[in-house]
Amino acid sequence: MAERYADVIVDISHEKVDRPFQYKIPQELSEAIYPGVRVRVPFGNGNKEKAGYVVDLSDRADYPEEKIKFITAVDEKGITAESSQIQIAYWLKRQYGSTMITALKTVLPVKRTLKDLEKKKVTACLGAEALAEAADQCERKHQAAKARVLRALTEEEVLPYELIRQKLNISPATLTALEKQGYLRVDTESVYRNPVKHVEGGEKRVCLGDDQKKIVEEVLRDYRSGNPRTYLIHGVTGSGKTEVYLGIIEEMIRMGKQAIVLIPEIALTYQTLLRFYKRFGERVSVINSSLSQGERYDQIRRAAAGELDVIIGPRSALFTPFPNLGIIIIDEEHEGSYKSESMPKYHARETAVHIASMHGACVVMGSATPSMEAYYRAKTGAYQLFEMPERHGSSTLPSVYIVDLREELKQGNRSVFSRKLHDLIEQRLHAGEQTMLFLNRRGYAGFVSCRACGHVMKCPHCDVSLSEHRNGMLVCHYCGYEEVRRADCPECGSRYLMGFRAGTEQIEEALHREFPAARVLRMDGDTTRKKESYEKILAAFADEKADILVGTQMIVKGHDFPNVTLVGILAADLSLNQNDYRAGERTFQLLTQAAGRAGRGGKPGEVVIQTYQPDHYSIVYAAAQDYQGFYEEEITYREFMQYPPVAHMMAVLITSGEQAVGKKICGQMVELVLRKREQDDKEGGIYQVIGPAEAAISRISDQYRHVFYVKHKDYDKLIEVKDILELFCREKENGIKNFTVQYDFDPMNTY
Ligand code: ADP
Ligand code: ZN
Ligand code: ZN
Repeated sequence: MAERYADVIVDISHEKVDRPFQYKIPQELSEAIYPGVRVRVPFGNGNKEKAGYVVDLSDRADYPEEKIKFITAVDEKGITAESSQIQIAYWLKRQYGSTMITALKTVLPVKRTLKDLEKKKVTACLGAEALAEAADQCERKHQAAKARVLRALTEEEVLPYELIRQKLNISPATLTALEKQGYLRVDTESVYRNPVKHVEGGEKRVCLGDDQKKIVEEVLRDYRSGNPRTYLIHGVTGSGKTEVYLGIIEEMIRMGKQAIVLIPEIALTYQTLLRFYKRFGERVSVINSSLSQGERYDQIRRAAAGELDVIIGPRSALFTPFPNLGIIIIDEEHEGSYKSESMPKYHARETAVHIASMHGACVVMGSATPSMEAYYRAKTGAYQLFEMPERHGSSTLPSVYIVDLREELKQGNRSVFSRKLHDLIEQRLHAGEQTMLFLNRRGYAGFVSCRACGHVMKCPHCDVSLSEHRNGMLVCHYCGYEEVRRADCPECGSRYLMGFRAGTEQIEEALHREFPAARVLRMDGDTTRKKESYEKILAAFADEKADILVGTQMIVKGHDFPNVTLVGILAADLSLNQNDYRAGERTFQLLTQAAGRAGRGGKPGEVVIQTYQPDHYSIVYAAAQDYQGFYEEEITYREFMQYPPVAHMMAVLITSGEQAVGKKICGQMVELVLRKREQDDKEGGIYQVIGPAEAAISRISDQYRHVFYVKHKDYDKLIEVKDILELFCREKENGIKNFTVQYDFDPMNTY
């Protein structure tokens, strides 16, 4: 394709990424112009020469040819720090589909005018013993927050203010009160004028085990020999992965390199952050959602200026513009939050690998339950695999019981708790130990199953469950198949055929009924709407202010409660019945992690999994904590159905205020894909096209949603398809724009 036009953003100010202007590329510069290059262009009526960045290339003029000016020259600065950010945005746009402006906004931080940030520290003014005594006193007076700070200070004399505020959930008023009482001091210093040196010592170093050492050494050896790779550490929680990350980062810093550490926000606990602060001091910074735009911008400026060595944060931390990036770490690699839900719908894993390759950096991922993607790539040699099968310390794997809920019903038990679970909860209440009850609520979307035999109503063509619609139909959201909702079970004739809905609130009520003396805490989307309450509920449970914690998947992540010896999973198969090819994987991950919550402190743990499908492989392998077994079975299914990671899949979602328009555009786009398939199949390309169909949620805010899917072994083929569809849309938009299109590559869920 002859690219004769360039989109240039003049004076890229991060304040608001402006609209690009189109320029002609002079013949003699055709080799030198590509996204990211700084150029000089004539601008405005006076044709004053200005600097700008090339952000996109095209072979089509968006305006009458004679109105388009020529680029004057490549700027003497040519490639700058912004250039590589623009290149990343360009890659995101191409790889995942979005406009260039949206991609740029994803990558570039929003600039705000701000005062120099002040960095605060909290320092203990008394010795550890005196503080512990004061903490005891506070506890007697039920001043839990005060006690929490004082205890933390007995372990660590100096703590970053932000850590105490955010992770220990302490208010400024509490800190002021403690300061007045003479227990601590809050110090303020301007980060820039007076960077604090990290005081070594105090921290007790672990001596890495042989398996840990082997990983650290191999990663560094590859890096030093100019062959940085992508590594996957498969290790249960507690096997020592974080120590490995710390070991590699330390060496990277010694070489003058920087590290990006991705940790899902929900797993970013006080303990984990503290380990990073202790090891790397003030040259660590954390990005999370409670930072303001200004604070975020500030962190990024510090990173670009070489004032930081390590940045920790969720997905977006990936775009930190370090001058000498050496490593990207992705902890809990399987987490769904690594995939962006807005355009461009990028996955942090793939994006990290790309960014690392731009910098000659390496990528290290870790998980107890790796995603099918990562493990498949490790098995097929794209990533290097390390296995760390054992836990450090004394804790052992819990005993797991599977309870068949069909049997419970047969025995006349209509409670949400099986008899086994009921007995074990009772035991815990007597013993003064804690219980976590986990409700797998992801499959909420109205699947229909038989409570007598467990039969689930499924599409005959797609191996996914049908969704119940208000109009009395059962619908497949993959292929559009429909059937009439019947009253009795086609397998056993029972009249107990029903849509399954049970919320955490009902569970809480049932607990109050069946265990009136138990103190219950509930955590779900409703109770944690306020940002702080999430940490508050967890802190209260950790302080043993409740016997039972009921919650959704939020409660299974990352947190260690040593007094929890029983975990109950109330309806393990709810997530199996999503209309979704990842349902088995997600169920396995959730169950394995939920089970891992039991018995983390020296006491042995027990886990009860309640299910209607006790023979389902996701449940059986999770109960046995058998990742390999699960992987083998799941990959066979993905291979058979040509689902990711074996092939690639692109979802195309069309939304429109007019149902007929959405349907028509969707149909036309599918036509285009089929035409391309015809052309390519001469070369032996194999496409699968699924749809068009109405999306599972067919209307949101009066926007109608239509969807289709394209599968192909080769990701680049899907990009070609996307480019054709984008062109089609641009031509349509020249008329009236009454629809929007979203692309989702290797989607985390179906639409
Ligand atoms: P993971 O990240 O896999 O959950 P961690 O690195 O957090 O595992 O290790 C779990 C616990 O074991 C931590 O308390 C850690 O300090 C300790 N630990 C890890 N490696 C060692 C080691 N080589 N020697 C002693 N303790 C270790
Ligand atoms: Zn039945
Ligand atoms: Zn179907």
